[in-house]
Amino acid sequence: MNSITPETAQELTSFLTDSVVLTPDSPEYAASVKRWSDSAEKQAGLVVIPTTEDDISTTVEYAHLSRIDLAVVGGGHATSGSGSTEGGILIDLTRMRKVTADDKAKTITAQGGCLWEHVDKTAGEHGLATVGGVVNHTGVGGLTLGGGYGWLTGQYGLVVDNLISARIVVADGRVLAVSKDAHADLFWAIRGAGHNFGVVTEFTLQGYDQKEDVSAGVVAFAPEKLEEIIEFANQLVADETDGRAGIYVFMGIPPGQSDLAITTVVFSTLSEEESQKRFAPLMALEPILSTVARTPYHQVNALLNGIAVHGERKAMKGFSYTLPLQPESARMMLEELSLIVKSDSDLVRSFIVLEFINASRVASVPRNAMAFANRGHSRNGGVWVWWADPNKDASARAHARYLKGLTKNLERPSDENVAIYSNFVETGDRSPGELFGDNLPKLQKLKARYDPDNIFNKTHPIHVSESLV
Ligand SMILES: Cc1cc2nc3c(=O)[nH]c(=O)nc-3n(C[C@H](O)[C@H](O)[C@H](O)COP(=O)(O)OP(=O)(O)OC[C@H]3O[C@@H](n4cnc5c(N)ncnc54)[C@H](O)[C@@H]3O)c2cc1C
Repeated sequence: MNSITPETAQELTSFLTDSVVLTPDSPEYAASVKRWSDSAEKQAGLVVIPTTEDDISTTVEYAHLSRIDLAVVGGGHATSGSGSTEGGILIDLTRMRKVTADDKAKTITAQGGCLWEHVDKTAGEHGLATVGGVVNHTGVGGLTLGGGYGWLTGQYGLVVDNLISARIVVADGRVLAVSKDAHADLFWAIRGAGHNFGVVTEFTLQGYDQKEDVSAGVVAFAPEKLEEIIEFANQLVADETDGRAGIYVFMGIPPGQSDLAITTVVFSTLSEEESQKRFAPLMALEPILSTVARTPYHQVNALLNGIAVHGERKAMKGFSYTLPLQPESARMMLEELSLIVKSDSDLVRSFIVLEFINASRVASVPRNAMAFANRGHSRNGGVWVWWADPNKDASARAHARYLKGLTKNLERPSDENVAIYSNFVETGDRSPGELFGDNLPKLQKLKARYDPDNIFNKTHPIHVSESLV
């Protein structure tokens, strides 16, 4: 793929009617290439900030025909830099953040550049909620196209299980409305492998009545309580439970503090009384802090914003585990993390998270119903290594790989075919076969049909053999 030249930049700009176009010397350029993780930033040759599908179509077609590297950014949270390009064209969707809700159909329609906070807010104004990211400044685009887990997953499944339709600009510049009834093959593909197929300009999601407040908050403990917390979490979300409560367990040094702690975030859509009953065994473990309260759903996904702040450098290595997680496995992870954060003060913000949500709804959908293939009873975990000094990129990433390696025996690919969530995998860390399993051959055929030249190649690119093109 080529970089953009001053001549091609000028030519493309002359074709656009509804976009702000930035070059590296434009005042707004630095903000546009900034990412949640500094280590994911790259210097685009030209930034196109469109407000219409037409301009996205023009830009995609131009990049394709000129063989210029193309990247698309939504929320900017991919730590692998898959929302960035070095020298190519960046389509920055930040001016496409409109959300509407249909009260009768209980649906929410979000433009492709929305963050989850925009969706949660509009949905809340209509007494609705939908499955969405637990950190509300993540992007709807990247998160949805890879699957999408949230607090409501135990009740309603993944974001892609609730995707009713979408509009997408494909590699030849066509704008397609996709659903189960229109371009059903492409609709199948974008639900799990969507980053490979185009620029999604609009997502329509199923909403659910959520007029009642929910119970949610942070509950923090001394590290000695880890084993009992894990025992509690195993039971809270076992598959026979009803999926209305969940808990995330963070191991690390909380922001602004100097000692390791176990910080949990709890969530429940049960009544206040029922929620208290469910969380009573946890509360009996004598937390050092609890902020659990009845909270409007649209505010819940802001609870983790204080941990997941923008800036500095980050590596994210996802892993999976099945229940019951042995408490000693969690203890071993904590001890190894402790050695690493104590070895270098630049690493103190690193943490490991274990996400305990009921997996029954996710597992109830057949694995070939859509591209998303991680349909077993795995739970997601993540190693997040965090540092500031660019000279430490290699060593910090080695720490991340080491910590992730400790979880290897917890994964159960043989039972489930695919046992890892692709959005928790940095591009290049796993092969498409490991991420899409039995769905890969169909995805390769669809890639050959919709993007034979692989211009959408930044997140887990699917390569097609020449015989398919
Ligand atoms: C702090 C944090 C919290 C997270 N929490 C969750 C969570 O609760 N649940 C969960 O499932 N995952 C979660 N994730 C993982 C998340 O799903 C991925 O990081 C995802 O890629 C973020 O999407 P984005 O739009 O913010 O990222 P970006 O970096 O903007 O994009 C990531 C990829 O998606 C593509 N993309 C983005 N928008 C579009 C679009 N409209 N059309 C086509 N391609 C697009 C980009 O080109 C890029 O390839 C979290 C990640 C972070 C960093």
